[in-house]
Amino acid sequence: MEILQLLWQEVLGFLGVTPALEILKSGDYSSFKTYDGIASLIYPIIPLLLLLELAVGLVYKKPQIKVYKVNFLIYIFNRFVGRFIAIAMVTYCLGLFSSYAILETTNTWYWFIYAYIVWELGHFVYHYLGHKVRLFWCLHSTHHAPEEMNLSVTHAHFFLEAPYADTIRTTVCILLGVKPEMLFTVMFIDGTYGAFIHIGENMIKDARFGFLNKLMLTPSHHRVHHARNPLYMDTNFCNLLNIWDRVFGTYQEEQRDVKIEYGITREMNSGNFLDVYFGEIVALFKDVVNAPGILNKILYLFMPPGWSHNGDHKTAKVVRKAYLDNS
Ligand SMILES: [Zn+2]
Ligand SMILES: [Zn+2]
Repeated sequence: MEILQLLWQEVLGFLGVTPALEILKSGDYSSFKTYDGIASLIYPIIPLLLLLELAVGLVYKKPQIKVYKVNFLIYIFNRFVGRFIAIAMVTYCLGLFSSYAILETTNTWYWFIYAYIVWELGHFVYHYLGHKVRLFWCLHSTHHAPEEMNLSVTHAHFFLEAPYADTIRTTVCILLGVKPEMLFTVMFIDGTYGAFIHIGENMIKDARFGFLNKLMLTPSHHRVHHARNPLYMDTNFCNLLNIWDRVFGTYQEEQRDVKIEYGITREMNSGNFLDVYFGEIVALFKDVVNAPGILNKILYLFMPPGWSHNGDHKTAKVVRKAYLDNS
């Protein structure tokens, strides 16, 4: 019975309904008007959309079973190993860097906009490094392995990625003066929207959202980010505002004549949990072992994926440039 109870708690946790149920149980419905109360009603939106998307896929006979299966296994695995590390890292960075903030902010709307832009900068830095430093790509590639897009991809992450990402994002925010309360609000919006941009074609076929595509980052932009087409590789690193992609020249819109092919360029089995989760680590290990000399071995760790000690580079930059030169 206890196991059933535990499983039920896990299901409720996955659905994000536990905080709302607690408010309902307490009988104090006015709590729904507080920040926590509103958040408790927003948490279940993405999980419920995920289930709806799964159902729509089954109805339209585009079930994307391989993606759901592997991402479900990743979710279970991460629940066991990675749960508290990211939270611990955020708390640790808050304590470590608070006194080094270069300016003081307050809890007003304009500082909120500032906080969001700063957060996006932190997100850009972490995400860019996740694509450009081979060692960090080992943490991030799990998220890029799925060869179809749906909301379960939100859960496809290597367990050490969240602590690594949050260490960078939190540090950037704290050093640039963002207050912890503000930081947590931004994190909450970012987490919810960052999940939503993985909504798949089964639910929303054209996710450009009209004029919004010019103003903010839409699921269409993030689909481009998940593509392995030469034109799309290593573009759109932002999450909600694509300011930093425009500043750093990594902005790319979805082209109607270039159909998105999801996944990574390495030969792999995207239906195999071990390959999705550890495949890049194994590939890096092999390259390091086979590289001549200590310098080349170290370079493999820090150069972009696709870099080769013999000069035959197949990095995203090289592949994209060759494509653009030929088109
Ligand atoms: Zn990425
Ligand atoms: Zn993604």
